[in-house]
Amino acid sequence: MKTDLEISQSVVAKHIRDIAEKLDIPENQLEYYGTNKAKLPLSLIKKEKIKDANLILVTAITPTPAGEGKTTTSIGLGDGLNRIGKKALTVIREPSLGPVFGIKGGAAGGGWSQVIPMVDINLHFTGDFSAIEKANNLLAALIDNNIRAQKDNLGIDPRTVLWKRCMDMNDRSLREIISGLGGKAGGLPRETGFNITAASEIMAILCLSENFEDLKTRIGNIYIGDTWEGKPVHARELNAEGAMAVLLKDAIKPNLVQTLEGNPALIHGGPFANIAQGTNSVLATKMGMSLANYVVTEAGFGADLGAEKFLNIKCRSAGLSPKAVVLVATIRALKYHGGKALDALTEPDTEALQAGFPNLERHLASLKSFGLPVVVSLNRFSSDAPEELELLQAHCKALDVPVALSEGWAKGGEGCTALAEAVVAAADKDAKPFTPTYNLEDSIREKMEKVCRTIYGAKHVILSNKANSQLRRFETLGYGQLPVCMAKTQKSLSDDEKKLGRPENFDINIREFEIAAGAGFIIPIAGNILRMPGLPLRPASEQIDVDSQGNIKGLF
Ligand code: ADP
Ligand code: MG
Repeated sequence: MKTDLEISQSVVAKHIRDIAEKLDIPENQLEYYGTNKAKLPLSLIKKEKIKDANLILVTAITPTPAGEGKTTTSIGLGDGLNRIGKKALTVIREPSLGPVFGIKGGAAGGGWSQVIPMVDINLHFTGDFSAIEKANNLLAALIDNNIRAQKDNLGIDPRTVLWKRCMDMNDRSLREIISGLGGKAGGLPRETGFNITAASEIMAILCLSENFEDLKTRIGNIYIGDTWEGKPVHARELNAEGAMAVLLKDAIKPNLVQTLEGNPALIHGGPFANIAQGTNSVLATKMGMSLANYVVTEAGFGADLGAEKFLNIKCRSAGLSPKAVVLVATIRALKYHGGKALDALTEPDTEALQAGFPNLERHLASLKSFGLPVVVSLNRFSSDAPEELELLQAHCKALDVPVALSEGWAKGGEGCTALAEAVVAAADKDAKPFTPTYNLEDSIREKMEKVCRTIYGAKHVILSNKANSQLRRFETLGYGQLPVCMAKTQKSLSDDEKKLGRPENFDINIREFEIAAGAGFIIPIAGNILRMPGLPLRPASEQIDVDSQGNIKGLF
């Protein structure tokens, strides 16, 4: 069987100008990055077009470590919609190098539902991640420079600085560091650390910004730390926002690429879903909705993380509402939730499958709380037994939720036409705008409780002493009106990754809070979730190589 990389290399990419033509984008609007990637100007966003477009959100049940195929489904569904005659566009995130070289692999889809050029997209692409990293690190340099200055400084207490440097790599040894060593010339030593770029606030800001003005305002609002007198200091006090926005002048523009079937796709921004909002930029979504009638987009990890934040944070901030939600489920993951071992998921086991259904039901209930039509997309793996596929489909019918077999991985768009028809039917119901889980006026504690109860099925939210005092401080500073961006493991509905299936009778423990005052949310950190991941013992990078002809292998 061909690998994802071999499949992607077996298709000759069309010139990106031909892809743009399908969206009626004039050639002089394209900023070429080679022959099969282009950046698009923000002037292509048209308010009046957005309101008529159908936004389709792809989310999933609680995933196994490999992922359940949301990206693959989003791409396949885009191709499927095009096949049934709709003007459709897939809009997704840019991959981070952390997972590419770590355990999860890239994020350009899989099998016959991929975006190309796969290697470029998974590596440096059009340089957006680098620009974000530079903007982030410019602020860090400005902070340390100000602390070092003996006069005319802001009086920042170095022990309170919250801003960290970032790098797009899984590198646990940078989580906590001492910077500023080397005597007087090195500045002032202080404890600090690195986040992975995908978990940085600049990434979150870029993905929520509506335009350059908004970008600068949000950057200016970044809360850096406090003065010796305990007064908050923001990036604007360092006059940082202009230069940082300049570093992002190209990164702010969405990237146009193509699927294996030559349909257009926008890829832009890449915040993680376990510690950030987990969805591509607002600008790319709005541009997609200006250029096509159906925009298929993905929110990271399970619906408890990605979909919740997509709706309560991104859509609320951008004034968007999806017309339908696709919930990706796999036989594999349901068996895993039903107690089957990770290395035995290819064995048919209807008992384990049935025991895993409550996980699906929990996510369906969460999505129902938003009042949006849901379609279950059964992402078919070759190991799925016919009786397993039948059982799950029958179960969905019994639950009265539309279900479609999706075979984009094996067959591309042709394998997703049934899903496409089901999605069009759901979107045609013309649902009312979604009902958020909480109001912005609710206290931060109420917001967390509502998310934990309605979406995770938890009983209570328990705050550590540290979290409690941080909460009081953030409320005093006037941040009580911000939405909450929960940081939680993606492996369980609870904050304990070992609790599979549909955990009952559990509390969510908030260890501490972080604030992203620029992006505009408070991050309650549940359990041990980290903003700088580590590599596994045998990272994917060990298999990645290039030969003397420049041919690359091992990316997936
Ligand atoms: P997610 O976006 O949910 O994390 P992806 O779409 O990235 O998941 O898929 C994760 C991995 O699983 C990819 O390597 C992809 O090729 C593979 N995959 C997805 N669907 C299938 C399928 N139906 N059969 C086999 N492999 C699949
Ligand atoms: Mg994905």
